[in-house]
Amino acid sequence: MNDNPWTRALAQLHAAADALKLDPLELARLENPDRVVEVSVPICMDDGSARVFQGFRVQHNNIRGPYKGGFRYHPKVDMDEVKALAFWMTMKNALVDVPFGGGKGGIVVDPKKLSEKELERLTRGFAKALAPVVGPYVDVPAPDVNTNAKIMAWFRDAYEKEIGKKAPAVVTGKPIESGGSQGRTEATGLGGHYALEAILEKLGRNPEGLSVAIQGFGNVGSYLARYLQKAGMKIVALSDSKGGIYIPDGIQDLDAVEQCKKKSGHIAGCYCIGSVCDLSNMEKLGGHDISPDEALTLPVDIIVPAALENAITEKNAGDIKASIVLEMANGPTTEAADAILKQKGIVVVPDILANAGGVAVSYFEWYQNIEKKKWKKDEVFVKLKRKMRTAAKAVYDVSKAQKITLREAAYIVALKRLSKNS
Ligand code: GLU
Repeated sequence: MNDNPWTRALAQLHAAADALKLDPLELARLENPDRVVEVSVPICMDDGSARVFQGFRVQHNNIRGPYKGGFRYHPKVDMDEVKALAFWMTMKNALVDVPFGGGKGGIVVDPKKLSEKELERLTRGFAKALAPVVGPYVDVPAPDVNTNAKIMAWFRDAYEKEIGKKAPAVVTGKPIESGGSQGRTEATGLGGHYALEAILEKLGRNPEGLSVAIQGFGNVGSYLARYLQKAGMKIVALSDSKGGIYIPDGIQDLDAVEQCKKKSGHIAGCYCIGSVCDLSNMEKLGGHDISPDEALTLPVDIIVPAALENAITEKNAGDIKASIVLEMANGPTTEAADAILKQKGIVVVPDILANAGGVAVSYFEWYQNIEKKKWKKDEVFVKLKRKMRTAAKAVYDVSKAQKITLREAAYIVALKRLSKNS
């Protein structure tokens, strides 16, 4: 697809800057990342050979506080993608009102092709390479696509060895035993649920019985599915990069599907009744297989792109039947597709609002590390709910008052905060 995420990010910035008549100097600062870092990470592979991986860290803006954002391991990571993702973090962090700027990083690698030991060496090498430019008050990475708590623990340890002292707050999303926060793993999915719930309330729609199709069944999609199901919604379709399942009456046992995916490596074919998950149950459940993209064009109330960028394009936007899109991935909708959704009157809960729960709890983790505190999970969830509802309400109110989309409103709310603080 010819959609460059960085070009799109700049268009989003310009639209909001025009609406706010932003000062040209402030605009210039946001149009250009403060710093882009490219590193080489040479590691020894298990077979004794040497390989060099390319890594990036973009520090977009720190007007509101240390750069903050995850790093991802993916073969398609490139500089323009990371720049856009870093910009979206600046906007997201302002929108959800945490005292951070925006950053993002990544390594060009398919982590599924590395052994655990190679993954550890790669992460430690990346931490060493980035040590001069990160730190608890400078730039604080976190998990993103294909990275997790274990990887954050390696990063923290390698960074501390490099600087020769303890610094738990250098990354967030750590395991609890390495200074992680209760609730961080669930946070992005739960935050998406809170944001959706708040928007549904504003729209006067009852969540009970709404049908939902989710593209992406990683950490974010799997927790979100469970929270939405608990709230009375019907999860009818789940897909991953290889394909998925569609059961119009609803997928009942999400735990069983997750187990099945873990075992088989994909969701396709995971038709579960009791502990048996296979194709023989497909007809009994009245389901059928779908391609990854089909999840987005099914006849459902809500679709959730929860995988990568550019999932909704001008090619499939016209076929979308849902009335609500909950963007749990970063940048899942191209510019052209966004215009089509707007024209069709589809409500898009934009990524910088929908998936802000992760970084909100990252802030709580960072704060607990700095203040040497340990909050209970309930406490974290109460604080998360408050943050998500406050942000959702601010976005909805501006969208209503100015008769603009939730995305346009989200950028205006965020940009106002950035501008006020500069
Ligand atoms: N990677 C997540 C995001 O895109 C979380 C970032 C963080 O916690 O710093 O929002």
